[in-house]
Order: sequence, then C-alpha cells, then structure tokens
Amino acid sequence: MLYREMGKTGDKVSILGFGCMRFQEINGRIDAQRTERQLLQAIDSGVNYFDTAYVYHGGKSESFLAEVFSKGIRNKVKIATKLPTYLIQSRRGMEEVLGTQLKRLKTDRIDYYLLHMLTDFASWEKMNQLGILDFLQRARRDGKIIHTGFSFHGDRENFKLIVDDYDWDMCQIQYNYLDEYYQAGTEGLQYAAVKGLGVVVMEPLRGGRLVGRIPAEVDKIWSKAEIARTPAEWALRWVWNHPEVTMLLSGMNEEAQIRENIRTAGEAYPNSLAQEELAVVERVKEAYQQLLKIGCTGCRYCLPCPSGVDIPNCLGIYNDKHLFQTKRTKIHYFLMTSGLVGGVPSHASLCSGCGKCEKVCPQQLKIRSHLQDVVRTLEYPAMKQLTGLIHWGIKGLNLVKRRKE
Ligand code: SF4
Ligand code: SF4
Repeated sequence: MLYREMGKTGDKVSILGFGCMRFQEINGRIDAQRTERQLLQAIDSGVNYFDTAYVYHGGKSESFLAEVFSKGIRNKVKIATKLPTYLIQSRRGMEEVLGTQLKRLKTDRIDYYLLHMLTDFASWEKMNQLGILDFLQRARRDGKIIHTGFSFHGDRENFKLIVDDYDWDMCQIQYNYLDEYYQAGTEGLQYAAVKGLGVVVMEPLRGGRLVGRIPAEVDKIWSKAEIARTPAEWALRWVWNHPEVTMLLSGMNEEAQIRENIRTAGEAYPNSLAQEELAVVERVKEAYQQLLKIGCTGCRYCLPCPSGVDIPNCLGIYNDKHLFQTKRTKIHYFLMTSGLVGGVPSHASLCSGCGKCEKVCPQQLKIRSHLQDVVRTLEYPAMKQLTGLIHWGIKGLNLVKRRKE
C-alpha cells in the first residue's frame, strides 16, 4: 500500500480509502460477517481511511464500523464522517447530529469531519447563517473533531469560493477520466491542492459505470493496450497519477475487487503512467465522447444562462442515460435540476430560446434543440410549474425562518 500526506494535516493516509456506503446486505441489513472480513482484509493490507456518513445504510454504516473498530483497531485507522447539511436546520441540530455520530461510532473523536454535499456557495452560506463556524471551532477545541472538510457536488467556480472561505484541511470531489471538466474538475483539484487541502476523490469509476457494461468500441481499445489491465485498474491508475490527489475512495464490497484495488494501490505512484499509457486512456475517453449523443465537454462557457438553465448538467445527464443505459435517470434528473438540491431550479424547460449560449459554445452545439430533446426524454409533465412551486415553497420557508430570527 502506498501512502500520501493529507494536505497540511501531515497525516499519512493510504491512497485507497474504504467507502462505507455500499456494504453487502442480506434482506436489507448489512451482511455483518462478510463485511467485517472485508474491512479486516483491507486493514491488514494497509488501508487506514474509512469514509462513512450520517445517512449511509440508513445510519447503520457508522455503528457497524464501531463494532469492527472497537476490537482494538480504532487507533490504527482514520474515520471520516459527514454532517448532513441538507438535514440541518439549526445550530442545535449540528450538536445533536455530532453527538449521535460520536455515540454511533463509539469514539471520542472524528478524524475528518466533512460537511456533506455542499452544492454551491449558497449552501455553505446557509450553514454559516446557522452557526457552523462556531460549531466547528468548539468541536475542534473540545477534541470531538480533529480535521474539517467538505464534500462537493457543484461547479468549479462555487468550489473555489468555498475553498477560499474557510481554513479547510481537506475536500472530497468527484473525479475520473470522463469528468476532467465536470464539477470541480482538474482545475478545482489543482486549486485545492495548491491551497494545502488534501483532496479525496469520490466516483473514480463514475459510480461503477466505467467498469460495468462497457461499450464494444471501448473494450477494443482496452484489449489492444500493450499493458494488460482491467478497466477498473486503468481508471484508478489515471486518478492516482495526479500528484494533487491524496486518495481515492472505493465503495468496495467484493473480495476480488478489494484484492485488485489493493494490488493496484501498491504501485500507483504519482506521474507513473507513461505517455503511451495516458494516450490509451485518452483514446478510451474519445471513444466514450463519440458515443455520447451530445458532444458537450462540460466546459461551462455557456453559463450563466439568463433563464437559469444548468446547460452542461442537463446535457450531461441526457448523455449518461444513452451511454450507460442507466435506470432511474428521470428521478436523478429531477433531483439535480428541480431545485430540491441547491434551492434553485435549473432544468431544460426553463430555456426561453434566446440563443446566447450557442454564440459562445466552443463545440458549436445546437443547445436549444438538444435541450428540447432533454425535455422530451427526461422531464415530467408540468415540470416548470412543479419546480416553480418548489422554489417558492423554499423561499417562503426561508422568509418565515428569517422573520422568526
Ligand atoms: S437559449 Fe436557452 S439555455 Fe441558452 S442561454 Fe438562452 S435561455 Fe439559456
Ligand atoms: S459551452 Fe457547449 S460544450 Fe461547453 S458546457 Fe456549454 S454546451 Fe457544453
């Protein structure tokens, strides 16, 4: 196992972190015996970072880890868990959640405490208004939290604003060879690293889609490569090749997968991929991009849209639906664009057809027409009215809250 330093904390953490959101289950409960064996297999092989959250496995992920770690392991590992910002409504709520987490984890300290799922600067500001700064300061002073961080699912400009607004120790971002320009992307990764933050990568396999049903065109490129590697190994090696990456998380739940990831993590030094190897990944990336229905690179030059459409997000979800034949894309689209997450609707049917975006798109995409395809394929009837109601509802609630304060 290789180790890297978690930014300015100086902690030496394994470059492979264990994501604790996808444990094996039997009849809806964590398969305790098998999962314990898997966790011990990882620890014996040098994995020393375990990433959980208040909500994983309906709250049972934290308590399950405690059962395993209380057998003399706690001091050998770092625990990262997260404050569910989307559930927090008050300063007291933060205390209560942290108290519950310490009890569930049967520990007196959480090594890395992340604000879960910040989506933009507004979501961070909301936490500020509720008193997060005082909460974090006191929790650190009392030794309940050692290091602070946040996990992020928004665009890179908002990411940078959040990085700059607090003395974070680390952050967690989505990153893989298809997402160099998506969300924080390469620019965000480098920005955070320069500022001294450890960077933990989630979704290195894009939720498993880079290793599941691989298109024949992609499979051909992998098979022709001079070095034989599995698609997972290629994808993980690509992430680890970036010196700015501290570690990547893998939601491991199969023994063979754990063995393979551990083996790969033993040789994935930064900048260790040769030009020819990087070229193979680049060819795979191009093949994926050609298979995409819409050639959007996620560069975001088209934003802001005067009507509030998150163009790359809408086009990206539409592409994913066709490329990976994913189920539940409609629900995912609704969650990501209705305003339920982040508070502001950004779905395709908000487009007024002004054409501003098409003038600046480097790919010269017919964005308006593509957005109509998105509407036809992914939107529920009366989406605009529905999201309008959600938006006004959220605004109304905030207004009432402010008046009470
Ligand atoms: S054409 Fe539609 S998506 Fe493009 S800038 Fe105008 S309103 Fe926004
Ligand atoms: S400018 Fe074009 S390629 Fe870039 S994000 Fe917008 S639609 Fe996609």
